[in-house]
Amino acid sequence: MLKINNIQTFYGNIQALKDVSIEINEGEIVTLIGANGAGKTTTLMSICGIEPPRNGEIIFDGDPITGLPPEKIVQKGIIQVPEGRRIFPDMTVLENLEMGAFLRTNKQLIQQDLNYVMTLFPILEKRKTQLGGTLSGGEQQMLAISRALMARPRVLLLDEPSLGLAPLIIKQIFEIIKQINKESNTTIFLVEQNANQALKLADRGYVMENGRITLVDSADSLLENDDVRKAYLGM
Ligand code: ATP
Repeated sequence: MLKINNIQTFYGNIQALKDVSIEINEGEIVTLIGANGAGKTTTLMSICGIEPPRNGEIIFDGDPITGLPPEKIVQKGIIQVPEGRRIFPDMTVLENLEMGAFLRTNKQLIQQDLNYVMTLFPILEKRKTQLGGTLSGGEQQMLAISRALMARPRVLLLDEPSLGLAPLIIKQIFEIIKQINKESNTTIFLVEQNANQALKLADRGYVMENGRITLVDSADSLLENDDVRKAYLGM
């Protein structure tokens, strides 16, 4: 469904991605793990068109999307939940959610999706008139995921949803990511430093080091891999 072929992405003269190739099939949960600065966020930025690759190509549903402006990529159903959540702090929870649907026109379907995200995260229903900036970190992450869902993503790109959250909240959010994947057949690409949780959730995983993919395998095999255990699972 989403095919990244040998992309190279630069910040000025610094090459952040070196021939990165990743394939994500429809309905899968695929994770990209790696240390700080490995190039995980840059991979998402390249897919979204914010940091387009200098070389290589990105194919979505058989069509090249490399070099398309970000809004065109969003229109195709590739929606990112950025690192650090980036909700609108001065807008209410409801307004944040409505912003997620700004490209859509069918009010009935938008309402249906609002109801759906509120059943996924009932706390958002309780907080719907509250300003986004007053929510806890976990609630902001729930809002950021829900806002992305309001765009009806075909592929949901998640950048470190566990960052800075307590273990119990991470568990809850990861369970709901699984539920979203199952219930609406949303394809998920999850970038994480929390390799243990990410691999437990995912079907397949890629390991990135210094801008390169060094390993690709089923998530179960990566959890058993000695190098992965030593480098990323602290075992
Ligand atoms: P993190 O977990 O810290 O987000 P990451 O794996 O997502 O790490 P990236 O943020 O993609 O890594 O960074 C990859 C490399 O690109 C790093 O060496 C980083 O310093 C560099 N880099 C990232 N953003 C920029 C930028 N805007 N300008 C210059 N260099 C950048």
